[in-house]
Amino acid sequence: MGYFGGRVVAVTGAGAGIGRELAVQLARAGARLALSDLDESAVKETVDLCGAASGSVFAAAVDVSDKDAVVQHAAEVGDRFGRVDAVFNNAGILFAGDVVDSEFADFERVMSVDFWGVVYGTKAFLPYVMRSDRGHVVNTSSAFGLMAAPGYSAYNAAKFAVRGFTESLRQEMQVGGHPVKVTCVVPGGIRTSIARTAGHAVGVDGDEVARSFEERIARTGPDEAARVILRGVERGKARVLVGPDARVVDVVTRMLGPAYQRLLPAATRLQK
Ligand code: NAD
Repeated sequence: MGYFGGRVVAVTGAGAGIGRELAVQLARAGARLALSDLDESAVKETVDLCGAASGSVFAAAVDVSDKDAVVQHAAEVGDRFGRVDAVFNNAGILFAGDVVDSEFADFERVMSVDFWGVVYGTKAFLPYVMRSDRGHVVNTSSAFGLMAAPGYSAYNAAKFAVRGFTESLRQEMQVGGHPVKVTCVVPGGIRTSIARTAGHAVGVDGDEVARSFEERIARTGPDEAARVILRGVERGKARVLVGPDARVVDVVTRMLGPAYQRLLPAATRLQK
């Protein structure tokens, strides 16, 4: 049995993209799965793709921004399997739009899914994970949680917040001597539908955002992303950089510090 064999693992946002690939690879590794997504039919499709033995996958429609629903889901998963060894707080949405053009509601929506969804998932599953002999909390930030970009303040804010929350929790588990490894996932551009389904402010061409993401940014496949994430989690890494672009962003932000903020405006102006 490999590292995840027989382990109970919860994955949010398992109906598409990286979450779906995590589910498929975890099923292949012999994990027992609690998969959730806002989109019920999508998460059911993932269950079919997992092709796992019946009884070893539990699927549910859960909106991660709904605190009560997340808490109830965690309790249901705990009851059903008797334990939870790992939670992957993966669900997230993208939003494009300058601060001046974005509504308060746009910021609130992105924070409620991308930040609060991670807090709810972590808090709801943590009591179970802390009872595991080797527990994991795996929270998905982004290269945009290391480096901010013009036009993405809501997403940047949420992903920076996820990183801070996750890095603090990792240290708390160490201070408390709990056998829980906490990992912050930092993907670069991954070929998923995230840009197609993204929200955007008035005046932003959503099709153009999706096209440019697909043609110029999304260089890594979701299958490769899931492989890198699972390997990093197995090694108990604090941060998992996914894709060469995430590694570049990591180096650039460390080398330049706040001066990195000169790069993107210059590149944006050149493109105009
Ligand atoms: P995706 O759009 O392909 O899949 C996201 C899944 O989350 C979908 O199935 C969607 O239905 C679900 N979801 C959305 N809102 C939800 C909610 N409120 N409650 C429950 N489920 C919800 O996206 P992806 O690219 O696989 O992204 C996965 C994670 O990786 C996200 O947190 C995203 O921000 C992050 N990320 C992605 C990229 C990328 O380039 N694709 C880069 C950096 C970070």
